[in-house]
Amino acid sequence: MVTMRTQALVLRSVDFGESDRVLHLLVPESGRLTVIAKGARRSVKRFSGTLDYFNYLAVQIDRRRSTVMARLDQATLIRTYSSLRSDPKRFALGCYLLELLDRLAPEGAGRAEARQLFELALASLEMIATWNADVRLRTLLELRLLDGLGLRPELRSCVRCGRAPETPEVDFHVAEGGPVCGACAAQLQGLIRVHLGTLRALEQGLRFAPEQLDRLALGGATLDEARRLIERFRRFHVGLALKSEPFLDSAL
Ligand SMILES: [Zn+2]
Repeated sequence: MVTMRTQALVLRSVDFGESDRVLHLLVPESGRLTVIAKGARRSVKRFSGTLDYFNYLAVQIDRRRSTVMARLDQATLIRTYSSLRSDPKRFALGCYLLELLDRLAPEGAGRAEARQLFELALASLEMIATWNADVRLRTLLELRLLDGLGLRPELRSCVRCGRAPETPEVDFHVAEGGPVCGACAAQLQGLIRVHLGTLRALEQGLRFAPEQLDRLALGGATLDEARRLIERFRRFHVGLALKSEPFLDSAL
């Protein structure tokens, strides 16, 4: 296909040369896609302010030149999540989400996988735009996004032997990404003590539809524990520092 007409979210935007801009887009056809927007900085008319973060776009992309970057020919606005720009907490959470996607979304993903990830990204922006931007939302969004990016923690059975935990508190093995039973936990390091209730809440956080999530019992000590677990899990498995993280930590 030479000309691709699709939808897109801007994940990253970098000035290039005198007048161009290089963009990382998330598209429902293939995941992350790098394009060049010629003249984007020189001509106000050409893309007329559409290439901003938190804009949901309809785009036309020329992919003819297979050895160089695809070229963004047109972009029109479908919807803007403007409250992410006006509210500092929403802005911080939105930037964090885009950075996670930019670092982890696959290029050249299969259509079904790419479509699912795109819908998850849109649903996440919608939640940030309409919900209270707080630690609870951050935890739920981060969990759901890690799952969408292929990093789903095990939340039910021992990751070593598959047995269901029998005590109200269990050890969670960060590197193996799930709980370990008492027998398997002996001599292991990198364990965090968590309540089964916290694992159940996170499991529901993955399973529930977005409109059901406000009914989820995730607050107080359970939320503190869930937050700590997701943070350790993400740091270990993503393995890189996110630039937007200190900003988000100070905002929420
Ligand atoms: Zn075990």
